[in-house]
Amino acid sequence: MQKVKLPKQLDPIKNAIKRSYFRGVMMTSDMERLQQVVAAVDDEVNVELRFDKDAQGLVFFEGNLSTTVSLICQRCNESFVHSLDVSFSFCPVKAEEDIDELPEAYEPVEVNDHGEIDLLQLFEDELILALPIVAFHAEEDCKRNSDEMSFGEIEPAVERPNPFAVLKELKREQE
Ligand SMILES: [Zn+2]
Repeated sequence: MQKVKLPKQLDPIKNAIKRSYFRGVMMTSDMERLQQVVAAVDDEVNVELRFDKDAQGLVFFEGNLSTTVSLICQRCNESFVHSLDVSFSFCPVKAEEDIDELPEAYEPVEVNDHGEIDLLQLFEDELILALPIVAFHAEEDCKRNSDEMSFGEIEPAVERPNPFAVLKELKREQE
């Protein structure tokens, strides 16, 4: 089945009236910021997107994004594959003042001067936010970890010596 490319920008109100449903892809070649923070990324982001109005008459759009990135493990410096799967629920707003009135279920997103949502930028942000702050292999896959394991168990937390105990030690040595 041929994958449909999603538009980069859409008018949320028009699409909510039509109750539009999109299923397609966005190209990560258009997402420079994402490319810069990962070692590699799949060519495509799979997108499911639905526009509608809720019971209160608020326009919203929701759906999910999925793609696969390669990240560099901060423990062993080798790359590993990490799946990104992000669900979202947005409510378009025209100005910041509108944000306070939104139900908590929605995240606000500002429309541009043409009344459109910049989906490309929005989804790129969502993917970047979904990345782990510090990238690590799963423990069983990490090289560094298995190397260290061969030297024996590592204490999970290093206990700091009590500074007063250290002082006492020093005093004793001086005596
Ligand atoms: Zn690792």
